[in-house]
Formats: sequence, C-alpha cells, structure tokens
Amino acid sequence: MRNFDIVHPSSWAEALGLLSGGDEGTRAFSGGTALMLMMKSGFYAPTRLIHLGALEARCSFIEATADGGLLIGAAATLSSVEASPVVQRSAPVIAQAMKKLANVRVRNVARVGGALAHGDPHMDLPPILAALGGEVLLCGPDGERTCPVESFYTGYLETRLSQGELITGVRLPPQAGWRSAYVKCTTRAADDWPTVGVAVSLRVVSGAIADARIMVGAATERLTRLTSAEAALRLGAPDAATFARAADAAAQEAVTVDSASGSAGYKTELLRVYVRRTLAEALLNGAVQ
Ligand SMILES: Cc1cc2nc3c(=O)[nH]c(=O)nc-3n(C[C@H](O)[C@H](O)[C@H](O)COP(=O)(O)OP(=O)(O)OC[C@H]3O[C@@H](n4cnc5c(N)ncnc54)[C@H](O)[C@@H]3O)c2cc1C
Repeated sequence: MRNFDIVHPSSWAEALGLLSGGDEGTRAFSGGTALMLMMKSGFYAPTRLIHLGALEARCSFIEATADGGLLIGAAATLSSVEASPVVQRSAPVIAQAMKKLANVRVRNVARVGGALAHGDPHMDLPPILAALGGEVLLCGPDGERTCPVESFYTGYLETRLSQGELITGVRLPPQAGWRSAYVKCTTRAADDWPTVGVAVSLRVVSGAIADARIMVGAATERLTRLTSAEAALRLGAPDAATFARAADAAAQEAVTVDSASGSAGYKTELLRVYVRRTLAEALLNGAVQ
C-alpha cells in the first residue's frame, strides 16, 4: 500500500473544504471497513484520507422527528442503530436486519454514512431504507440537498454523490400503518453478503393492499425498485395468491446479473421465492403503531 495522509476535520464545513480541491486521491471515510478493503486489494490508492470520526459527537444522533419519522446521523454506527429503542419502535425492520449484517465487529465500526455511500449493490441497508421511503441527506459546496435512497444508486459502486459532497444522514417518513420486512438469501453463513436481498413495505387498508414498495439488492447491478411487482399487489388481498403474482412479476421485471454466487437465471428464481417469502414475513410482522 502506498503512503497516505489522514486528516481529522472537526466540522462538516472543514471536511467539505478539504474535499473541495477535486483531487481524485482525496477521499472521506467513516468506519473505514469498506475503504480499507479496497485499499488493501489495490482497487484504490488514496493520497489523503479525511476521517469523519471527529464529527461523531454531533452526527451520531438517532432521533424521532416531530411528524413521527426518524432521523439518523451519518456518523451513527450500525450497532447503535441496531440497539436504538427509537429505531426498534419506529422502524423495527432495520434493527432486525442488522443482526445478520456482517458481524458485530464490523457493525461496531461501520457508520450509516459509509453504508449508504459505498454503493455496493450487495449492501443490506440501502434496500431497507429505500423500501421505508428514506431520503439521503447531503451537504456539498452548493449547500444541502436530499435524494431518495431508491434513486441514489446509479451503477456498481456508483451513486448520485457529487464531487466534494458528503452524506450527513438519512431521514425516514413516519412508518405508522406500514408492514415491512427484509430477507436476504446467502450462499454461505446467514450473516454473509446476500446473493439476493429483498425489502418490502406494505400498507393494508380494509383487507386490501393500498400501497407497496419492493426493493431488490445484490441480484441486480444496482439497487432496484420492482414497480410491476408492486402493481401486481395493489388492491389485491394480502394472501398467498397475490404474493405469488407479485413474485412472478418481480422475476419477469428484474435484470439479474451473473456473479461468483450464482448465475443470473438462478438469481431470478431465488428472487421469485424471496419476494413471496418477504411479503409473507411483512404481513406477519404486523403494522408499525
Ligand atoms: C468482513 C465484512 C463483512 C461484511 N458483510 C456485510 C454484509 O453482510 N452486509 C452488508 O450490508 N455489508 C457488509 N459489509 C460491508 C459493510 O457494511 C461496509 O463496509 C460498511 O457499512 C461501510 O461503512 P464504513 O463506515 O466503514 O465506510 P467506509 O469504509 O469508511 O467508507 C465506504 C465508502 O463510503 C465513503 N463515505 C464514508 N462516509 C461517507 C460520508 N459521510 N459521506 C460520503 N461518503 C462517505 C467513503 O469515501 C468510501 O467510499 C461487510 C464488511 C466487512 C469488512
């Protein structure tokens, strides 16, 4: 590994100033769990790293918003999200999913900002936050902006993060009345990277599915919303026949990719099974109060 500097800014403004030169070799990092792997494999060789850890005291908040939504700071560790009573109450699917995301050593160090910015389609958190209707909070040289999590990913390791921008957090709308689940299929241990990851959120009104969001990660080149599967659910009864129709639509719609964990065709069949299972699990999980 070639030598590099590490700097520790104490404010977002200072961090943005350090990034403003447009130098490809300068990069921010949070927990470093993904970045260090890229550096050790020779995939990325920075000249200067900007450690966002010093912002932790101000940016690791996890709080309920006035409208019943949720706000999570970019510097919150995945462990703190998992253990947060606010998350367990207002978006329990996130806390449940954390238990099978990597291992406790990674979750103690990795931050929400890093988990969102990395852009690997195998990440577990983005499909969940997208299914919950989350927005990424960003700050950059031109000020602050937001981007829906579902449209934040543009390709493999590619996001809508602009040059010189940083993620400051994520905001979720109120989840009351929504039923959500995330199920990942791994080809090795249960807490390994997913081969397919499916996140769903449903709202059932008077015995019919009024709204649905279905996201798939890992099996596709980037996080993907399955809109025709959602359409197959809408106004249907929340039962096995409707879920099977949505699963078939998902398998038809998703553009799956070959990888070391399986062929595209195999992943399409996995997706058909896992969409059905995840919908059934969301129904069982019940609505958030
Ligand atoms: C052994 C192992 C197993 C794993 N298994 C899983 C798994 O099963 N499921 C899963 O989802 N993930 C898994 N991961 C990946 C893990 O979730 C990510 O490495 C982690 O979430 C990245 O967070 P970080 O804070 O360490 O990011 P960093 O490594 O610090 O940064 C990652 C990227 O994000 C950028 N970045 C970081 N913070 C910001 C910010 N605030 N604004 C803008 N850009 C930023 C960096 O420049 C870098 O490009 C695993 C990782 C390891 C090492």
